[in-house]
Amino acid sequence: QAGPNDLQTKADRLVQMSICASLARKFPKVTIIGEEELPTDDVTEDLIEDGHCEEILKKPCPAQYTGIKEEELVIWVDPLDGTKEYTEGLLDHVTVLIGIAYGGKAIAGVINQPYYNYEAGANAVLGRTIWGVLGMGAFGFQLTEAPAGKHIVVTTRSHSSALVNECIAALNPDHVIRVGGAGNKIIQLIEGKASAYVFASPGCKKWDTCAPEAILHAVGGKITDICGNSFQYNKEVKHMNSAGVLATLRNYDYYASRIPSTVKESLVP
Ligand code: AMP
Ligand code: MG
Ligand code: MG
Repeated sequence: QAGPNDLQTKADRLVQMSICASLARKFPKVTIIGEEELPTDDVTEDLIEDGHCEEILKKPCPAQYTGIKEEELVIWVDPLDGTKEYTEGLLDHVTVLIGIAYGGKAIAGVINQPYYNYEAGANAVLGRTIWGVLGMGAFGFQLTEAPAGKHIVVTTRSHSSALVNECIAALNPDHVIRVGGAGNKIIQLIEGKASAYVFASPGCKKWDTCAPEAILHAVGGKITDICGNSFQYNKEVKHMNSAGVLATLRNYDYYASRIPSTVKESLVP
């Protein structure tokens, strides 16, 4: 995987090795699918994380999940989402995404934002972790609605195309925010900065959407492809989200009903 629009840095490789090797050691029967193709044998011991989060373990597991077996879970890992922006120094666009799927559905997710607050001064806490479980809720941020009556679209900064722009123009938004990363764009939705994430293009993959989907759905939002199809996350599924992304915290139908049919017909799931 290389090319000016699909970068891989040392950070992508090291973070994926750390997350995947640590999870595989603790949960050997889980299927783990990471973005980067890497050899698994040269993981050094200093990359293994064996801690756990008290805050999460304090909460009771929703009843519908207590019978799940380890081997029924698929974990989708994007070690560094927003790599293009990372290489350009836009550090707060970067997230680490870990999504958990069961029965093809995204049921839990973590969005870690390692450089959150990086420009906020020496007294600010650097980095944060947003996490959520469908049926439990989402934590680590303040859920905020976008300004009522305004249509603020958030979309790609570095993977635009004529179709991407045509689709946004058809929605006649009051404002368009262009930022990197799928994780970062979901944060814009749940913190009320944007009302819809619209990306009428292939390019986004299952590891980009699994964790964000679980968190967004846990707070009552909705994410589908541009045509309105929900995403599947079973281990056999095609990685590419070929028909793009449409996500909102509220008012999904407003945006879905305004996607031009010509745009939908150009994107084949
Ligand atoms: P963006 O909104 O451009 O930051 O993209 C969100 C996620 O989808 C990132 O992980 C990108 O690397 C990926 N992505 C989107 N479009 C493309 C593309 N044309 N080629 C490669 N990756 C893409
Ligand atoms: Mg990504
Ligand atoms: Mg990535």
